Amino acid sequence: MAEMRGLAGKRVLITGGASGIGAATAERFLAEGADVSVLDRDARARERLGKSLPRLSAIFRADVTSLAEVQSAFDEAVAKMGGIDVVINNAGISIRHRFVDITPEEWNRVLNVNLTGVFHVGQAAARHMLEHGGGVILNTASTNRIVGYPFYADYNASKAGVIELTRSMALELAPAIRVNAVAPGYVLTPMQRAEYTDEMLAEVNGKIPLGRHAMPEEVAALFAFLASDDAAFITGHVYTIDGGETRAAWPAADGKCWSSTARTESDVMTSHPAWF
Ligand code: NAD
Repeated sequence: MAEMRGLAGKRVLITGGASGIGAATAERFLAEGADVSVLDRDARARERLGKSLPRLSAIFRADVTSLAEVQSAFDEAVAKMGGIDVVINNAGISIRHRFVDITPEEWNRVLNVNLTGVFHVGQAAARHMLEHGGGVILNTASTNRIVGYPFYADYNASKAGVIELTRSMALELAPAIRVNAVAPGYVLTPMQRAEYTDEMLAEVNGKIPLGRHAMPEEVAALFAFLASDDAAFITGHVYTIDGGETRAAWPAADGKCWSSTARTESDVMTSHPAWF
């Protein structure tokens, strides 16, 4: 059911849109009557998305770290939809590791995807929108930029960079283009749920004032609002969606459960993707 003003008929491109928050956002914009394309590097996720959201205009293969791939997918999306009005920079990765163990390759990988990727897509979007009457660019940050979380130094730095990039873009691109960032806390994506035991989920929920994780659809709703005409006077800001988590002091109290799965120091030695 359409709920936000001005989204019907809007042409929307979502990076990392083949799973999790991005896929929920694609679904929400379709429900609002928008024309939606997705860009993602993961072939299996793209295939799954194509089956679950057959009304998508297109699903492009591109890695946001490659300027050439981004430019070519962006041009194809413009050709396919006849232009682009809204871009959602959502693609992101994280690796859990101690600061002293981060390799230069890991550091570059995380910064390249999470920050340089936003620059690549954001610049292509800005150039296109400035020539074609404006638009909206939304970038995905994280509560990791707002409060401190150990074991994700590269991820935290990348998301802090996304916030500052958002502010700079908003100031330079106004009034034609509005640019804002969304900073989610714990989001229960299908992948994240699969990583939790029921006990782990309950423990993390216990640290969030609203007593649960965000659902991907709730983050999608914030993207929809910020892209809509209801948010026509909003630019240059960061919107936190975290169930009150970063308003509370107690997550730091035990010194252990800072993230979904890093529960003890020894867990931290295991490096694998996880989101927050
Ligand atoms: P996800 O892994 O479910 O989805 C991320 C998507 O991005 C995947 O489809 C992946 O293939 C794609 N992707 C990754 N690197 C890419 C690249 N280089 N080029 C193109 N596509 C790429 O993750 P998610 O939890 O939905 O996270 C989405 C965004 O939200 C990320 O930026 C993440 O940092 C942020 N975030 C997530 C949470 C959370 O709890 N899930 C919390 C805060 C912020």
